[in-house]
Amino acid sequence: MQTEVVLAIGGNKGDRADFLQKAMDALSRQATLVGSSQIYETEAWGGVATSGNFLNQVVLIHTQMDPIVLLEVIQGIEEQLGRTREQHWGDRTMDIDILYFGDQVCDTPSLTIPHPYLAQRRFVLQPLAEILPTKKHPLLKKTTLELLAECTDLGQVSVWNQAK
Ligand code: ATP
Ligand code: CA
Ligand code: CA
Repeated sequence: MQTEVVLAIGGNKGDRADFLQKAMDALSRQATLVGSSQIYETEAWGGVATSGNFLNQVVLIHTQMDPIVLLEVIQGIEEQLGRTREQHWGDRTMDIDILYFGDQVCDTPSLTIPHPYLAQRRFVLQPLAEILPTKKHPLLKKTTLELLAECTDLGQVSVWNQAK
């Protein structure tokens, strides 16, 4: 059975756009890529000092994997792309988070779905609103647009302009 899964991908180290492309290429080898948002440039989140802004994107895939297998796959892709874990929410080449896995709810030590900070992050809600404006959060029972309207995160989020 295919499940519609929503991922957030992003990083702030190295050639950020190239890392996003490489992550998409790797994902497309393991799952069916169904859609993606524009690329957004965003400030670091969580009050952590980082060396530069992030590029973030939301990606829609169809997969037959179960959530824990998908988590292993995305962690493998992060590793291939040079991800190191120094500071939580700090600098990284690539972070891939599972936002939604169909309408499944999961809360285990290694996996929480929907992603626990989804509703508190403008850098996630804004690209998500572009591709899934009416998707309902299975626990909060609100659409992406409703969550975005209520979100108090003041972090700057703007469409990334490659030419700049
Ligand atoms: P955040 O989860 O707040 O965005 P982060 O992405 O920087 O922080 P990581 O160091 O990438 O955190 O991941 C820490 C752990 O989070 C992973 O090892 C994984 O087991 C766990 N995790 C729990 N829920 C999810 C999820 N929905 N998507 C990805 N990883 C998750
Ligand atoms: Ca993350
Ligand atoms: Ca992560």
